[in-house]
Amino acid sequence: MDRIIYLDHAATTYTKPEVLKEMLPYFTEIYGNPSSVHSYGRETRKALDLARERTAKALNADPAEIIFTSGGTEADNLAIIGTATANKKKGNHIITSSIEHPAALHSCQYLEKNGFQVTYLPVDEYGLIDPQDVKEAIKENTILISIMTANNEIGTIQPVREIGAIAKEKGVLFHTDAVQAVGSIPNDVRDMNIDLLTLSAHKSHGPKGVGALYARKGVRLNHISHGGAQERNRRAGTENLPAIVGLGKAIELATQDIEARNEKLRALRDRLISGILSSVEYTRLNGHPTKRLAGNSNFSFEFIEGEALLLSLDMKGIAASSGSACTSGTLDPSHVLLAIGLPHEIAHGSLRLTLGDENTEEEIDYVLEVLPQIVQRLREMSPLFNQDKGGKIYV
Ligand SMILES: *Cc1c(COP(=O)(O)O)cnc(C)c1O
Repeated sequence: MDRIIYLDHAATTYTKPEVLKEMLPYFTEIYGNPSSVHSYGRETRKALDLARERTAKALNADPAEIIFTSGGTEADNLAIIGTATANKKKGNHIITSSIEHPAALHSCQYLEKNGFQVTYLPVDEYGLIDPQDVKEAIKENTILISIMTANNEIGTIQPVREIGAIAKEKGVLFHTDAVQAVGSIPNDVRDMNIDLLTLSAHKSHGPKGVGALYARKGVRLNHISHGGAQERNRRAGTENLPAIVGLGKAIELATQDIEARNEKLRALRDRLISGILSSVEYTRLNGHPTKRLAGNSNFSFEFIEGEALLLSLDMKGIAASSGSACTSGTLDPSHVLLAIGLPHEIAHGSLRLTLGDENTEEEIDYVLEVLPQIVQRLREMSPLFNQDKGGKIYV
């Protein structure tokens, strides 16, 4: 194979040509500042309004409820830190889960250092949160529940509707990070009682460095950066217009024909999953068997290191991702895999393969041909495998 088989769509996606095409004029010909009153400014204001309408429509929100940001990370920070500090008089307790994206998790940890209390709810072996746990964790001083719609590592889809109903009943704000879910499952903020929702363009075939936060009308939100009055005084700074135009188009495309796309993705994913589980022994699928994103698969291969597996796959032209994040030179296993109960050594041998529109059956079959050989070779080099072979196996 002389081209890359890209199976890392949860990390990022390419920008679709029709998205780029809409963006390009806003770098060169139509470069006005949307805050300017002259005709150039008015033209970019129109483009900004259209992107806002498209984004709102995808969520069944009102355009005035959309705040453009520099990405999913900033939107999570704004949602969590912005509502926490604005609602401090009401209380200082926040409920989240132990498997959130670092953008949400680290925002909560920052708040903890600044006088807030955070409950990190556990998940079951599939990565599911029990809505009953959410209900029981709510206290007098709870001001925010932040639970992601779908997990970026193992693809598990949470019972967002149930959590939204509980939050509404108890009068607590509900934020969900839907970065991975947008374009994969419907996200109707009215229907699901969502007060705040995070999305990002680059996970859905838009450009990097742009995202949005939906914040329901009436939700109190503080600035997290300070400056001009852009975005109805909720996010300071001149709008990144080409990127915002791209986000609007990408989200519009991503939320069309979801079911047809998912059907194709699911067929490829299930071919991959059953192929791997049947040809590689001592292997487990991480995440929920059915309540998972159509394009997500995540495996643990006992007796090998995920990083070694990634490098070998890369040499064969396959771009994948491991479950472990390499932070500052130390290899910490993924907090998500630990939260679903995997022991450290198993969490280390994990592999995430996330599919997208352009993947083909032929590519999946190539992976199914190459991967078992690589795993076999790495295991033969592993002292652990040779010692334990035939012994007690964790799957
Ligand atoms: C990628 C991702 C983010 C961060 O979005 P950026 O636009 O890359 O900052 C947040 N949450 C989830 C679930 C993600 O997958």
